Amino acid sequence: MTDMTAPKALVAGNWKMNGLKAASAEISKLNDLVNENGAKCDVLICPPYTLIGTLADLGAENVAIGAQDCHMNISGAHTGDISAEMIREFGCEHIIVGHSERRADHGESNETVKAKASAAQATGATAIICVGETIDEREAGDAVSVVTSQVKASIPDDATADNTTIAYEPVWAIGTGKVPTAGDVEEIHAEIRAVLETRFGADGAKIRILYGGSVKASNANELMSVPNVNGALVGGASLKADDFYGIISAYDEIG
Ligand code: PEP
Repeated sequence: MTDMTAPKALVAGNWKMNGLKAASAEISKLNDLVNENGAKCDVLICPPYTLIGTLADLGAENVAIGAQDCHMNISGAHTGDISAEMIREFGCEHIIVGHSERRADHGESNETVKAKASAAQATGATAIICVGETIDEREAGDAVSVVTSQVKASIPDDATADNTTIAYEPVWAIGTGKVPTAGDVEEIHAEIRAVLETRFGADGAKIRILYGGSVKASNANELMSVPNVNGALVGGASLKADDFYGIISAYDEIG
């Protein structure tokens, strides 16, 4: 049953380091699928930086384009980095920060993630802040404490429902085909919600909390129906329009 107080769901795709110019055909196809069949959630694709301009220029009215990361500074001597301001110039309204692959590959700490989220928010973008436990942490019974600590330390003090989204992505579920039980997702999302409400009051109740990790059309309905799951962050299954639309259309039944 639809929870009328819940924020509108967001189904976001993270293309990671995938996609050449030809991939714009998938955005056009996705836009057409949403146009013809509708979507009861917001739809976002975060391609690599190299495609942001190309995809934004398509003007696909049903598919927002976002980014996968930004630097914590607005400009300066940071070779190879991209600032939130540069991303915003293409009309992007969402920037992912703190993905577990960035935390692992680039040693990003909660402090770094918080600074990046602040940089994104300062330009008017919504920061999608990723958190999630490793398999060792889950097996040690530490999933709740790890994830809530990450949320507390990664989220800026002036977070609002407009400028912040949280994505809970258990590291062991990303790209593996393994997913937590609906009960485990419910437990973690409830704990995140409690942290948000304690710190941000009524706004904390409205901040979206996405689930990410091996979401596909066949499990989307179950995962997206869990209380406090306000959408999905999707990697592999966001690369093809048909696969991604299969996840989006789970909301036709959920409402
Ligand atoms: C991700 O990387 O954010 C992700 C959830 O990947 P996948 O859907 O492929 O597990």
